[in-house]
Amino acid sequence: MLSPPNATAAPARVALVGNPNTGKSTLFNALAGMNVRTGNYPGVTIEKKLGRCDLGGQAIDLLDLPGTYSLAPRSPDELVAVEVLTDDLPHEPPVELIICVVNAMMLQRNLFLVSQLLELDKPVVIALNMIDSARARGVSIDVQRLSKQLGVPVICTSASKREGISELKDAIKRGLQHHGATSRDRVLPEVFYQVRDGFRESLVSHMNAAQPVGAGDLTTADDSMGGSRLPESEVPRDPRELLPDDYLIERMLLDRGGESERRLLGRLGPDAAETLSSWRAKLAAEVGDPIDMECNARYSWARQKLAGVVGEEPDGGASVTDWLDQVLTHRVWGLICFVLVMFLIFQSIYSFASWPMDRIDEATGAISDTITSLMAPGMLRSLITDGVIAGVGGVLIFLPQIALLFFFLALLEDCGYMARASFLVDRLMTAFGLSGKSFLPMMSSFACAVPGVMATRVIENRRDRFATIMVAPLMSCSARLPVYLLLIAAFIPATTYLGGFLSLPAIVLMSMYAVGVVVAIPVSLILKKTLLRGEVAPFVLELPEYKVPSIRVVLWRVWEASRAFVVRAGTLIFAASIVIWFAGYWPGDHSRQYELQARLEAIDPEDASREAIATELKSERARLLEESTLGQIGHAIEPAVAPLGWDWKIGVGAVASFPAREVIIATLGTIYSLGGEEDEEGLIGAIRSSKYPDGTPVYSIPVALSIMVFFALCAQCMSTLLVIQRETNSWFWPALSFTYMTVLAYLGAMVTYQVGTRFF
Ligand code: GDP
Repeated sequence: MLSPPNATAAPARVALVGNPNTGKSTLFNALAGMNVRTGNYPGVTIEKKLGRCDLGGQAIDLLDLPGTYSLAPRSPDELVAVEVLTDDLPHEPPVELIICVVNAMMLQRNLFLVSQLLELDKPVVIALNMIDSARARGVSIDVQRLSKQLGVPVICTSASKREGISELKDAIKRGLQHHGATSRDRVLPEVFYQVRDGFRESLVSHMNAAQPVGAGDLTTADDSMGGSRLPESEVPRDPRELLPDDYLIERMLLDRGGESERRLLGRLGPDAAETLSSWRAKLAAEVGDPIDMECNARYSWARQKLAGVVGEEPDGGASVTDWLDQVLTHRVWGLICFVLVMFLIFQSIYSFASWPMDRIDEATGAISDTITSLMAPGMLRSLITDGVIAGVGGVLIFLPQIALLFFFLALLEDCGYMARASFLVDRLMTAFGLSGKSFLPMMSSFACAVPGVMATRVIENRRDRFATIMVAPLMSCSARLPVYLLLIAAFIPATTYLGGFLSLPAIVLMSMYAVGVVVAIPVSLILKKTLLRGEVAPFVLELPEYKVPSIRVVLWRVWEASRAFVVRAGTLIFAASIVIWFAGYWPGDHSRQYELQARLEAIDPEDASREAIATELKSERARLLEESTLGQIGHAIEPAVAPLGWDWKIGVGAVASFPAREVIIATLGTIYSLGGEEDEEGLIGAIRSSKYPDGTPVYSIPVALSIMVFFALCAQCMSTLLVIQRETNSWFWPALSFTYMTVLAYLGAMVTYQVGTRFF
């Protein structure tokens, strides 16, 4: 029989944190078994996972927090994690102990997070996981010494083999019983803490001046994020109690544009922004760039703590990993394998995506047809079919290919191969003036340059970091993929080689990805010889064991990328489609067009006069488009884009896509739909049959390649430029990035077209 729950003593709460892929979920399952509950944090839609764990007579609530490399909150979810750890989330029981899962084979990198956890004023126990793999690779770790240097218990575990679990439970029990005061570690330079104290006092004065603060103003999160309000009875009176934990105050100073700053300004109003920037200026005067300061301080702390801790046993015996690495990290074979793997990925994007793409195409076609049959020709129908469906639908069709690309990249990353690619590229990159640490940010930039630029924070050396920020946007992001795919589908014949193993479209697609990488090399070389002159810092890369990828992790990445893509299509592209539609519709008298459209729709499909009406309708639509605002702007810029082989419509599309690249597809979709050029093949058909007034085709292979090269090299992304501004804290770098990329894109497209026309 079950014993009644003990109502008096609530189980202590213990949080589980760690870098991604350290085996945190496996350890959570090993500790909590099937006793898991999920729910949301109060007032916010962020998932909370709690597991009940028995420590031998004592139960604890184990709280699983999302995997993270650093405790610098950049999103609402990350902020919730930090607020949980600092007991800043109301109605949540305090966390009494933190277990940090550390990968025994990547100690140095993992200690970055440990250094932050030790600043939280809470007992910490370190689970040194994957110890089995470390031993198999002949890595010996002096655990006692590590524990002594860090000042916290370190327990060796192998979560997947269920080893070290009871020792870990004992350590948790001891940690919870030991109620002695823990003191915050001070990893950063002393002057930083002085500035923090000053800033905190200014915040208190600021809050005093702003009193009386109504109870309703005090939220744990600003309302836009669904933060929960404190009931009036629970509102503390002393402003100091309203301040977040010191750690979060430190993050406000350190993370420009971070989530804790956003939350603070949301609570205290814009005046607090001035206080914050004046204290940041004081900090910068003392320590220089705060990102550099933090990164250097934490890594040098980690190196100090690891002194004499890790040793390689001379004869560890060759594991499967060693054996595979002999080939995969080989100077020549490794690179050949890398290129082959990438080819296979690009090839499979083509092989597997066509079925779902056809279904999306059919669905948008069916919606458009239904609307056409239900509504009489008119402005609203044009807005829906020519604007929204042709614009947004044209972009959405590429979702399957994007999901597939992310599926394969996530597989490679999770099985440990990407770290090998990083190792290979490190050797090349050092030759070109970038450090191997640049690889990870550059790799993320293939998804999107925004997280890529943010990921440069792990690069200690400022010059290396800035050089990486400058070239990261050259990597082909997922917004460029639809542009490549559209033009390749329209113009590149599906010729296959090696018995169907390789196809020409896949080769062209891979070449487009290569263009950015190849151009990044001279750009970074030039930067490192001029503006960012300096030595390349050595970088020791820790290679993880190969493992079977976790399907959960892989599917999660695919879901995140797909969701981001759909959200962009539903918001940014949707809004852009409407603006473009309006510019292509207005001014102009559309009555003749509607009259012709109505006649055409009423007429019998076999009627002989149909053809004549259709031709007149097409020329009427073309005339209206030419005379619209869009047409006038297009003709004005036509001379500038003519050397690239483009007509005014492509020119307008390229200019409209400066805020975001996919807008070109929405623009072309809308332009061709308004101009009556779309046929049953949709946008691809319209592009193939688009003609100049004299009847010559607008597009050719050189024109398609010229557009692709332009998009591969151009800085058409507002968000990236803004994040560069934020990370470099200057307008010079985004301006430089925009200028050099636009000039390169223009020249690259011109050379492609001019040389291409000689060949085709
Ligand atoms: P998380 O991202 O930190 O939650 O990591 P997971 O728990 O998903 O584990 C990542 C991978 O590492 C999975 O394939 C696990 O089977 C594996 N793994 C977890 N713990 C260990 C361990 O102690 N030793 C070894 N060799 N593999 C482990």
